[in-house]
Amino acid sequence: MTQTPQQREETLTIFQKGASGRRAFQCPQIDVPPAGGELLPGRFRRSAPPRLPEVSEPEIVRHYVRLSKRNFDLDSGFYPLGSCTMKHNPRLHERVAALAGHARLHPLQDPERAQGALELMWNLQQALAEISGLPHVSLQPSAGSHGELAGVLLTRAYHEAKGEHRHKVLTPDTAHGTNPATVTMAGLEVVKVATNSDGGVDVEDLRAKADGDVACLMLTNPNTLGLFDPNIAEIAEIVHGVGATLYYDGANLNAVMGISRPGDMGFDIVHFNLHKSFTQPHGGGGPGSGPIAVSDRIAPFLPRPLVVRSEDGAFDLNHDSPTSSKSIGRLRGFQGNYGCFVRAYAYICSLGADGLKDASETAVLNANYLLARLKDKNAHPPVAEYLPLAYGELCLHEFVLSGGPMKRALQIKTLDLAKRLLDFGFHPPTVYFPLLVEEALMVEPTETETKETLDAFADAIAQILREAETDGPEVAQNAPYTTPVRRLDEVAAAKHPVIRQAL
Ligand SMILES: *Cc1c(COP(=O)(O)O)cnc(C)c1O
Repeated sequence: MTQTPQQREETLTIFQKGASGRRAFQCPQIDVPPAGGELLPGRFRRSAPPRLPEVSEPEIVRHYVRLSKRNFDLDSGFYPLGSCTMKHNPRLHERVAALAGHARLHPLQDPERAQGALELMWNLQQALAEISGLPHVSLQPSAGSHGELAGVLLTRAYHEAKGEHRHKVLTPDTAHGTNPATVTMAGLEVVKVATNSDGGVDVEDLRAKADGDVACLMLTNPNTLGLFDPNIAEIAEIVHGVGATLYYDGANLNAVMGISRPGDMGFDIVHFNLHKSFTQPHGGGGPGSGPIAVSDRIAPFLPRPLVVRSEDGAFDLNHDSPTSSKSIGRLRGFQGNYGCFVRAYAYICSLGADGLKDASETAVLNANYLLARLKDKNAHPPVAEYLPLAYGELCLHEFVLSGGPMKRALQIKTLDLAKRLLDFGFHPPTVYFPLLVEEALMVEPTETETKETLDAFADAIAQILREAETDGPEVAQNAPYTTPVRRLDEVAAAKHPVIRQAL
């Protein structure tokens, strides 16, 4: 089969397009005399021009618009990716973040000339402290997982300051993969805690494993099954009883904002995923931000610099060197992803305290509505028999179904169902996580979706199962049919990624 010009175009990188000497923009000739001497000394200048694509403006626009259409994004469809909180990103935040005072501010600007930005960061810290119930905040970490690393390093510093060298960190077997990965990166040992039949922490197993070697318990509450652990007070007592800290993975905060606070539950350290709960384009769409909030006993170890406010109301950066303080030091260059701070702060201000609570309540309502649709006993086919809820009866902001019965009865796996959903215009839910659920399908609709969208999604699931009953498993097994690429070799993509083309 010969390729059409359009298909050929699809395979070219931007470097393979254009022609030598072609430009998208021509700078006018300088019409003022050059400043005395050379502006940039010769040793700092390139000897050869950089190797950049030589393309016209329409070629650039078409290239990137074409690429953008080859992916699935939140702006074109429902994206119920469990644990990732893919909520709508209000355009108001983009406008605010694009204001020149934010977007064009240089990260090395003298704090005296960046008072507005520092005030925004300070206010955001205050808001996050209030939301979490923990008074001291650092905005530095760039993602939830980076906040986890900060948290484990803080825990280590806290114990070391007391002359203790604790080497174990407990994580439930429902934990997100970043939790054990973080522990290992920080040089500590992961110890798994079992899950009880209700989907919460197995308290007896925790009690057996909590000893003087344990530095910390990392917990997500509500957990990755979408369930709030009602034993949290007892869990906190056990962990604090052996002198360990309690770390809150805040990725599921979207279920509980304004309703319950990690600080009140006894947690010492929490990370926020601003890009999840507080909206930002994420997951390939933009950078993240994973601030942490901590209790008084952890505060002396926080990363530097800190945003501080003096008595006269002026803002500054406190650079206490780690050698003269107990700080774990700096986690990254500059202060963090400032654009995320602006969007998150705009979100908090535009909703207010009642609005944040409302967002969480609606997220929980939407998830339970969708769950109820999928559990409908009178449905044809009986979705709940093929895809039962893994734990519990109701859920918080997300729920986990098991595709085990579907696989046995219809010979289609959760992966097949997920791929077929793409043909219906839906991004698949999270699959095969958490690991303790057979053929897991984790659905998080978020508060920003309408009833019509939730109904259409439930209908699509029923339709895919009906197809499998009447036309056989091949329909789903060979899906998707309508996407730019079909089934990918995901293992090869992860193990041997080709991220640049040899020129
Ligand atoms: C997303 C997520 C993380 C990691 O956060 P990133 O910002 O992606 O690094 C950790 N735990 C849970 C439960 C998550 O959903």
